[in-house]
Amino acid sequence: ACNDPCEDRPWGQVPVASVQDVDRAVRAARRAFDEDGWPHTPPATRAGMLRKLADLIDQNAEELALIQTHENGKLLSEMLPGARALASHARYVAGLAENIHGSTMHSYPGFTTYTVREAVGVVAAITPWNSPLTLLSWKLFPALAAGCTIVIKPSEVTPTSTLRLAELCQEAGFPKGVVNVVTGFGQPSGAALANHAGVDKIAFTGSTNGGKAMLAATTPRIGRATLELGGKSPNIVFADADLDDAIYGVMGGIFSATGQSCMAGSRVLVEDSVYDDFARKLAAATAKLTLGDPLDSGVDVGPLACRNQFDKVLSYIEIGKAEGARLIAGGVRDTSTPLTAAGLFVQPAIFTEVANSSRLAQEEIFGPVASLIRFSSEDHAVQVANDVDFGLAAAVWTRDVGRAHRMVKRLRAGTVWVNAYRVIHYAVPFGGFKQSGIGRELGADALDDYTETKSVWINEGNRQEFGRR
Ligand code: NAD
Repeated sequence: ACNDPCEDRPWGQVPVASVQDVDRAVRAARRAFDEDGWPHTPPATRAGMLRKLADLIDQNAEELALIQTHENGKLLSEMLPGARALASHARYVAGLAENIHGSTMHSYPGFTTYTVREAVGVVAAITPWNSPLTLLSWKLFPALAAGCTIVIKPSEVTPTSTLRLAELCQEAGFPKGVVNVVTGFGQPSGAALANHAGVDKIAFTGSTNGGKAMLAATTPRIGRATLELGGKSPNIVFADADLDDAIYGVMGGIFSATGQSCMAGSRVLVEDSVYDDFARKLAAATAKLTLGDPLDSGVDVGPLACRNQFDKVLSYIEIGKAEGARLIAGGVRDTSTPLTAAGLFVQPAIFTEVANSSRLAQEEIFGPVASLIRFSSEDHAVQVANDVDFGLAAAVWTRDVGRAHRMVKRLRAGTVWVNAYRVIHYAVPFGGFKQSGIGRELGADALDDYTETKSVWINEGNRQEFGRR
């Protein structure tokens, strides 16, 4: 059963795939890849289907958004543009599908040498609950464009939106066996898929522990894997910034999506000279946020997506207090209205005087908890920002253009924003340094991870020398 977290009650039921079910799905994907010729369809045909899928997504965007809001409690006002963006992304990738090519190179005289890029094979896409369709599309679209077939295992928390998108794939004309979905938990369904010998590549988004399980599964067969994992991203505010704007950038960075965002700006580094004032103003602005029904356009912060996540957030707030950080805003279950009292709502929390070495500052909470850390200089900010196992994203708030460039060069993260936070676009690669992942999704290069390069040597007439006397 899947729960609607806003009312904390069941909203759908899906099967738990057994090891045998997963095997049938992988076999179907293998057949479509190995026997039915999907990788050899003209790229224009695959592009055409992706464009048809884009049209269907446009026509059904509201439904796709609504399903996700019921599944994970994210604001409809965020899910709707997100659903529409899927269509633009599909059209962009359709263009890329028609532009997959290798190159020719000069080698020895009498040889023609060139490369071709071929589909990597059967892809297992294992996805999380926080942005179910967006994070799936980052894998599904390039896989289809490249000529791969795919078996998707959505999160047990949010399987229904994926099933609906799979129906649209069918309607768009993708042949039998090209797009497959198995639902269920990480164990046994996800693990059976990740460990299946018929899977050539895993595309995973989820926790760092999940990512480690993926690498362990692929290592024995030297399988390919791209991983988008957790983060503990620094959002760095210098005294010379437009502090008024930075307050909203910091709030959006950590409290939008109720903090359940891999790129959440959960470590807020603030320069000493403005730290106290900034903390006070941030707390005041945070107190004005409206918690409530994610379907209501006037609401800023929805519920946590599931009971586990709700319990985890509250437990980290206790950890923060025990570690000696000061809780200056929120951090308790919200019971201010009958609706929030019934659902899984936590008031956005702000901790000050957080030590960067503490668990609060080092571990991903995946909830609305901001940790404010002081720094005294640019060097100090860089040192604190990089002193973490993750490297997904970072942001710098400053009016000094030289400082902005220096910081961009020194921050160890896959995305760096200057005077902005949490902006993404299908043409711009996204992924992590360090334990935040391997590989990049989005952008034109994303297709590289769904292809293998084949080098071809054509002998124009050189005689074979070995053993010839
Ligand atoms: P999770 O790792 O628990 O689960 C992710 C998916 O993996 C789910 O489908 C789950 O069923 C499956 N799974 C879990 N254990 C498995 C195993 N042993 N074998 C096979 N499958 C397994 O993560 P989650 O709680 O769903 O998602 C939240 C996490 O995702 C956060 O840590 C967040 O940072 C990360 N995330 C990262 C990005 C990114 O792009 N880097 C984006 C969104 C979320």
